[in-house]
Amino acid sequence: MTPGPAPEGRARGRPPADHRSTADRHTATLALAHALSAAERGLAVIPLSRTKLPALRSPHHDDPQPSACRGECGRMGHGVYDASTDPLRIRELFAAAPWASGYGIACGLAPYHLIGIDLDTKSGADAPAALRELALRHLFTIPDTVVVTTPSGGRHIWLSGPPDTVVPNSAGRLAPGIDIRGAGGYLVGPGSRTEHGVYSTVPGTGHLPPATCPPALLRLLAPSPRRRAATPRADGPPAAQQGQGLVQFVLAAHEGQRNTRLFWAACRAYENGLGESLTGPLTDAALRVGLTLREARSTIASAARLTGHD
Ligand SMILES: [Zn+2]
Repeated sequence: MTPGPAPEGRARGRPPADHRSTADRHTATLALAHALSAAERGLAVIPLSRTKLPALRSPHHDDPQPSACRGECGRMGHGVYDASTDPLRIRELFAAAPWASGYGIACGLAPYHLIGIDLDTKSGADAPAALRELALRHLFTIPDTVVVTTPSGGRHIWLSGPPDTVVPNSAGRLAPGIDIRGAGGYLVGPGSRTEHGVYSTVPGTGHLPPATCPPALLRLLAPSPRRRAATPRADGPPAAQQGQGLVQFVLAAHEGQRNTRLFWAACRAYENGLGESLTGPLTDAALRVGLTLREARSTIASAARLTGHD
């Protein structure tokens, strides 16, 4: 999975500061330089470790209960809530995390209200094709904007949202393989180094400002309350037919797509008020394409959580 909000995310891969190699120091210096240059453009940043998680450990990690603190305590280590455009604060954050090898850019904040369209290639889904299909169906084009390539061959398309719309984070809700980074999420910034390699901008896009998100795409990203409602849509296909379509979608999955497809279908089911009635048929379909009962249950439970039905 790519990073989402992880305010309490544990920093891993922390070598003792004294034993850092020259190469590690160089990586950390470069990460800070990239982060400062992003901040100059108005993008709020945090240091990331090689695992793409926030580099600073939560000051609340020893608490018996998960903490709801988003930085009110005044200490560092609140994941994306530490994000800043202030060069002094950024230097402090990186000084506290000398093992940082990259930086995260907080989404949803002024002035750009950044939205990241994350086209994944690892899941076996053809995310670029799925995005082209969505664009054709909903009549929008992706404008010229910053595009960042990931070490695994994925792409992050940066868009700017309106200030009055909250775009939630989602994984595979739009289509299998397309994740959305919105409010409370972050994007790995170009120039970051992770365990798997370096993030870079696609040539010719690095200097562009994040382009305005096309309204038709924004409508898909920020679902109206009606679409989130747990009742079937009056203008949609009949529930039984829609449910059968979702089951078929899972049954047609190749190996490598099974989990993403199941997750996507379960999200759609929950969003359309079919979650309860389709849990059984979707689980059966998942077993028939070769997932284990445990995998199927866990994926459906994730979909329930993501759509607010747990
Ligand atoms: Zn705190």
